[in-house]
Amino acid sequence: MRKGGTDIALEDEKRRWPLCDAAERSKSRLDRDANRPNGRNGATIVTLIPGDGVGPEVIGAAVTALEATGLHIQWDRQEAGAASLKKVGTPVPDSLIRSLKRTHIAFKGPLETRVGEGYRSINVYLRKTFNLYANLRPTLSFEGVQTPFRNVDLVVVRENTEDLYAGIEHQVAPGIVESVKVITARASRRIAQFAFEYARRNGRKLVTAIHKANIMKLSDGLFLKCARRVAQEYPDIRYEEQIVDAACMRLVTNPAAFDVLLLENLYGDIVSDLCAGLVGGLGVVPGANYGQRGAIFEAVHGTAPDIAGKNIANPVAAILSSAMLADYLGAHRGADQIRVAVGEVLRAGRTLTPDLGGKATTTEMTAAILRAMAVQGERPLALA
Ligand code: NAD
Repeated sequence: MRKGGTDIALEDEKRRWPLCDAAERSKSRLDRDANRPNGRNGATIVTLIPGDGVGPEVIGAAVTALEATGLHIQWDRQEAGAASLKKVGTPVPDSLIRSLKRTHIAFKGPLETRVGEGYRSINVYLRKTFNLYANLRPTLSFEGVQTPFRNVDLVVVRENTEDLYAGIEHQVAPGIVESVKVITARASRRIAQFAFEYARRNGRKLVTAIHKANIMKLSDGLFLKCARRVAQEYPDIRYEEQIVDAACMRLVTNPAAFDVLLLENLYGDIVSDLCAGLVGGLGVVPGANYGQRGAIFEAVHGTAPDIAGKNIANPVAAILSSAMLADYLGAHRGADQIRVAVGEVLRAGRTLTPDLGGKATTTEMTAAILRAMAVQGERPLALA
C-alpha cells in the first residue's frame, strides 16, 4: 500500500468524483438488454460525434486522453448538427441514428441550435429519442482555479425528456404564441429516484428539489409531489425544496447549502450553467445523459462560436466527460487517472487556457494533461 503523493491525490480525486452507481445500474441493464456489438479485438464500440464549433477541438483532446488510459474503444465516428447539415443536408442523418441504436453509447461534442429559427435542437431530439432521462452534471471547485468560492461540490440532476423542451409551440393568432410545459408523474418520479439513488450510493446527504410551484401550481406542483413521495423512501437523505429564484440567489451566496440539486429540464439547464460559473466556467464542467439502455457523454458547454477554430477552448470539460464515460464502461482506474491529471494541471496553473486566465492553447493544455497521466503511469495508482 503506497501513501505517496500520487496515491493521496488519487484518493482525494476519488472522493471528489464518486461513481454514479445509479448510472452503473443502468449500465448493467444496458449490458443485459442492448446486445451491444463488440468491435475489433473485443473493443467497445462507441459512437463519436465531434459536433460543431469547438466540438472537434475538445473532443479530439478528450479522445486522446481516454485512449491514453489504455481503454479499448473502437470509435464509430458520426456527423450531426450544422456540420452534417452542410455535408449531407440533414442535421440528424440516418447513419447517426443507426449507430446509436447499435452502440447505445455516445461521446459527443456540442451541436449548434440556432436562436429563434432553424431546425429543433438535436441534443433534445437525441435525449428524447433514446430516453436518456437523467442529465448529471457534477460541479466541483479545483485548486488553482480562481473563483469567489472554494470547495464547491454540487451535483445537478436535470430531467431531460419533458417540460418546455417538449417542443410543443404554436401560434394561437398573429402576435400570440403558446409553449406547452409538459410534466408527468412518471418522468418526475423517475428523475427523483435517480437523484436520491445517486445521493445514497455516493454518500451525499441532501437532495434539494428546485421549482416554481408557487406560480406553476399544477406542473411544478406535480413535480414536487412526486419528489416528496420518493423522498419518503430515502429517510437517510435529507430533502429540501427551494423556489428557483431564491435557489439562484442562495447558490451564488452560499453554494455549500446545496449538495444534490433536483430540477426539471429548463431550470436544470439554467442552474447548471450558473453552477459552472461558481467553479471557473463552462470550460471545466462535464456531463452525461443516462437512460435505462444507454448514455451520451457531453460537456455542459455549447459550441462556443466566439472562440471556435482558434485552438483556445478549454478541453477540461470534455476530458472530464470522457472520464465519466470510462466509469460507465467500468474502467474506473482510467477515469481516476484522467481526473488526477486534470487536477494536477489545474493546481500547477502553468498551462491554462485563456478562460482560466492562462495563455495556453487547447493543444498545450491537453499535452500537459497527457504528461500528467503518463507520470501516473510510471507511478502505479495503488489505492490505500
Ligand atoms: P456556449 O456554452 O457555447 O458559450 C458560452 C460562453 O462560454 C462563451 O463565451 C464561450 O466562449 C464560453 N465557453 C464555452 N465552452 C468553453 C470552453 N470549452 N472553453 C472556454 N470557453 C468556453 O453557449 P452559447 O454561446 O449560449 O451557445 C452556442 C451554441 O451552442 C448554440 O447554438 C447553442 O444552442 C449550442 N449549445 C449546445 C449544447 C450541446 O450541444 N449540448 C449545449 C449548450 C449550447
